Amino acid sequence: MTKHIFITGGVVSSLGKGLTSAALGMVLESRGLKVALQKFDPYLNVDPGTMSPYQHGEVYVTDDGAETDLDLGHYERFTTTTTNRDSNFTTGQIYNAVLSKERRGDFLGGTVQVIPHITNEIKDSVRRPAVEGVDVVLTEIGGVIGDIESLPFLEAIRQMPHDVGHENVLFIHLTLVPFIRAAGEMKTKPTQHSVGKLREIGIQPDILICRTEKPMTDEMIDKISLFCNVEKSAVIEELDLAKPYLVYELPCVFIDQGLDDIILEKLHLDCPEPAIGAWLQMLDRLRNPSREVEIAVIGKYIDHQDAYKSIYEALTHGGTANDTRVIVRRVEAEEAEKKGAEKLLAGVGGVLVPGGFGSRGIEGKIQSIRYARENNIPFLGICLGLQCAVIEFARNVCGLDKANSMEFDVNTPHPVICYMDEQLRVTDMGGTMRLGSYPCHLTEGSLAQRAYAQANVHERHRHRLEFNNSFRDVFQEKGMAFSGLSPNDKLVEIVELQGHPWYVAGQFHPEFKSRALQPHPLFRDFIAASLRHTQAEKKSPERKQSGKSVAV
Ligand code: GLN
Repeated sequence: MTKHIFITGGVVSSLGKGLTSAALGMVLESRGLKVALQKFDPYLNVDPGTMSPYQHGEVYVTDDGAETDLDLGHYERFTTTTTNRDSNFTTGQIYNAVLSKERRGDFLGGTVQVIPHITNEIKDSVRRPAVEGVDVVLTEIGGVIGDIESLPFLEAIRQMPHDVGHENVLFIHLTLVPFIRAAGEMKTKPTQHSVGKLREIGIQPDILICRTEKPMTDEMIDKISLFCNVEKSAVIEELDLAKPYLVYELPCVFIDQGLDDIILEKLHLDCPEPAIGAWLQMLDRLRNPSREVEIAVIGKYIDHQDAYKSIYEALTHGGTANDTRVIVRRVEAEEAEKKGAEKLLAGVGGVLVPGGFGSRGIEGKIQSIRYARENNIPFLGICLGLQCAVIEFARNVCGLDKANSMEFDVNTPHPVICYMDEQLRVTDMGGTMRLGSYPCHLTEGSLAQRAYAQANVHERHRHRLEFNNSFRDVFQEKGMAFSGLSPNDKLVEIVELQGHPWYVAGQFHPEFKSRALQPHPLFRDFIAASLRHTQAEKKSPERKQSGKSVAV
């Protein structure tokens, strides 16, 4: 019988429910269990694919092509699970499914209601990852207790113990214990209220995870335990972490407090002791790296914490693989356009141009790639990053001055990046892209093939445009190699530059497949090359080392 753990959040949003769920997943995997993770989002959009990165952060893409919430990225980075369509449901999707059934006549003329129709649909979605072989499904409920939006989800999970047995369901509530500076005290009242609200709906949490700025005293734990009706040992502290990259310490924070044992006991599971050797080694490299490298990320949503989440995490993983701390210099693409890339990029070890949509900042990205190409700085281009690299090469090396992507200029005389399929331009904006995992064949001996140490790989895509094949010959003549192609040779997946120390751009998103214990090979080799570049620069003092003053 698959067990279910539900993770709810209280008091405020942004407590890190996604990270906490991911860390719990890792903790359970360390005890030999097979887990699946999923998230329910209480908004009406059918998926986050068309939502602004400013509002929603990164859109995470699964192998089967679902455009999902970025928390799924945490799930994959912390565990060995691979998420899919059943890993993320929004209110919009749930209603969509129920309304389609109603239109088809599936309810035989009955009145369609939130309870039981919407709640049944939610419960079906909760059960979907509970397939053969999965021991525990962890389900994160988005939003904050008290929101109107999340009520149907809470009602549905309240019913779960009745459906599958009390011994098979566990409720974990993540809450905040704030420190009130003026009083010099931490307060448990918001937690009491939040749990009170949960109990009003009929959910008694089994475990409380308390986000705190300072360690909790024994008296506070006693108080929370008493007022919230949760055993003292099940009141777990989650102290703020000193640095963002230390999120990978979370599983150990939980194991140190015996959270894994509490969960196993409550779910009547008998498991081996935690096996966390590899995780601890990774943490050691993360905490005490012997080197440092600075990587510039030139993006359009650069001041938004979460818009390039998977990229930043993949850079961290690439760093640990090289025993290196990666410092990210966030460069606003429009700034690079206005001030000049050479000013903003001076001194960096490597240049990364991530994916994106729309024309804002494009010229800054193109300038940055030119700077990396001409100065032999390692370059990693991702999706739009590849497309900008192709435009830059066309304009400045192939002599196609007006080269552009059809996304930015449909009438360009040199459409080096074009729509894969004219159909894709005229249909509605939702789900019209090449989405999900596709195979790619690598050229023997190329940088990409050496990184992957494989001839065939699968990577995740999210784009409408591609390299225009009518320009392949001229590009090859001028030194651009197409080192990754779709198996039928029709689509360019990876480009490299002959004579450059490390220049790789992919039409896909390698960042989505990088995990804490399995750094992505392209990120690993990009960091290694950036380290070599940094060390070479240090050895030749005549080369400029300015730019350190630039805001990071
Ligand atoms: N806008 C480009 C396209 O649709 C690139 C997309 C991306 O970077 N994910 O092809």
